[in-house]
Amino acid sequence: MNSWAQIYLPPIDSSFDFSPLSLKHSTTRQNVALPVKDEYRMYVCGITPYDATHLGHAATYITFDLVNRYLTAMGKKVHFVENVTDVDDPLLERATRDGVDWKDLAQSQIDLFRGDMSDLHIIPPQYYIGAVEAIPLVIDAIQGLQEKNSIYAVDDDLYFKVHADKDFGSRANFSQGEMLKLFAERGGDPERAGKLDPLDALVWLHERAGEPSWPSSFGKGRPGWHIECCAIALSYLPVDHDEEFLIDIQGGGNDLLFPHHEMGAAQAAVLKGKDYARLYVHAGLIGLDGEKMSKSLGNLVFLSKLVSEGADPIAVRLALISEHYSLDRMWSQEQLDTSTRFLDRLRLLLSRPEVAPTKTVVQKIIYALSDNLDTPKALEELRKWCDETESGSTGGSAGELSRAIDLLLGIAI
Ligand code: ZN
Repeated sequence: MNSWAQIYLPPIDSSFDFSPLSLKHSTTRQNVALPVKDEYRMYVCGITPYDATHLGHAATYITFDLVNRYLTAMGKKVHFVENVTDVDDPLLERATRDGVDWKDLAQSQIDLFRGDMSDLHIIPPQYYIGAVEAIPLVIDAIQGLQEKNSIYAVDDDLYFKVHADKDFGSRANFSQGEMLKLFAERGGDPERAGKLDPLDALVWLHERAGEPSWPSSFGKGRPGWHIECCAIALSYLPVDHDEEFLIDIQGGGNDLLFPHHEMGAAQAAVLKGKDYARLYVHAGLIGLDGEKMSKSLGNLVFLSKLVSEGADPIAVRLALISEHYSLDRMWSQEQLDTSTRFLDRLRLLLSRPEVAPTKTVVQKIIYALSDNLDTPKALEELRKWCDETESGSTGGSAGELSRAIDLLLGIAI
C-alpha cells in the first residue's frame, strides 16, 4: 500500500552531541537507553480505518516520529514499518451501521489518514502495509506456528496457544487478573468454550456469512489482529540474526500493550525462537474536557476538522508535544490557542536578522529529546530563547535553529 509523501529533513551540524536515545520501556516502566548502532528497526501499529485521524492517533504517531527524527538526526538508518488494519470487526461493524461498503469506508479513511500524516509532518514508513495485502504473510506465519505445535481449532477458528511461549505475559508485565480483564475489554474472548486457555489468541477467523474471507490451506477466513502485526513486522523489518532481539522498538498507544503487543511478541518468539522487541514504547491517551476521548462517548476530536476550522496542523503538533508523550493528557482549545501563539512568535522571531545565540538552545533541545523525548523541556528551552531574542540578545543563526526544530521536533517554520 502506498505510504504518504516523503518529508524534507534539513541537515544538522555534526558538531552537536547526540546522547544515546533513552525511552520508557513499558515492561519495566523504566527509561532504557537504546544501544548505539548503525540501524534500528521500529514497528508502529497503525489504525483501523474507520475513524481517522483523531488526536489520540495523532499524538501516537507524532511520538514515534520524534523517535525516528532523533535517530535519523544522529545519522542512523531507521527501518520503520506501519500497518493499517483494513479488515477487522470494528471496520465491518461501522460499514454495516452506515450502510457503506467496508472497502470504500477503509479506502476513504486511509486517504484521509495519509493526508493528516503529511499535514502533521510525520516521516512516512518505508512500508505501509494493509492487513488485506498481508494475508499471504499471515497464512505463512500461522503455518509456521502450526509447525511449532502452537495452533489449535475451536470449531473452525484457529487459536494460538499463548503458553507455547514460555515468556508469555512478561512484556506487559501484568497479573493474570489484569490480563484477563484487559483481554475481555479489548476484543478478546476469554469466555469462549473450547479454548485451552482463556487468553489464547484468535489467529484465523473462519468465514462468517456476509463477511469478507480469503482462501487458505485451513479454509476460507480472515486474519486475527495480533498475528497481522507480527507477520508484517517480521516480513518487512530486516531481522538480523546476530542481534539479541528481532526488532528494536514496538510502538503504539498504551491501550495496545496488552493484549495486542504481548500476543504479537509471543507469536514472534515462538516463530523465530528469540525475543521480539528490545523496547515496548507506548504513548499516553488523549482526553477531552476531563473525560477519556472515545468512540463510545462520541467526543473524538479529528485533526481534519480542526484544520478545516482554520487550525495550523503544526500548531496542533506543538500542542500535542507540549506535555510528555507517555502521560495520558487532556486536549483543550486553550492549549491549541497557546500553541498557535507560540508558533506565531517563533516564526516572527526566526525571521529577524539578529537573534539570540542558537548553538546552546539546539544542544539543550537534543539533550531534552534524548531523555525519553522530554518535549516539555525542549519547548521550555525554545521559550527561553524567544525571551532572550526579544530582550535584544544577538549572535545566533535563525536558520540554524529553524532547521534544527524542523528536523528534531517536526516544527516547520
Ligand atoms: Zn499492531
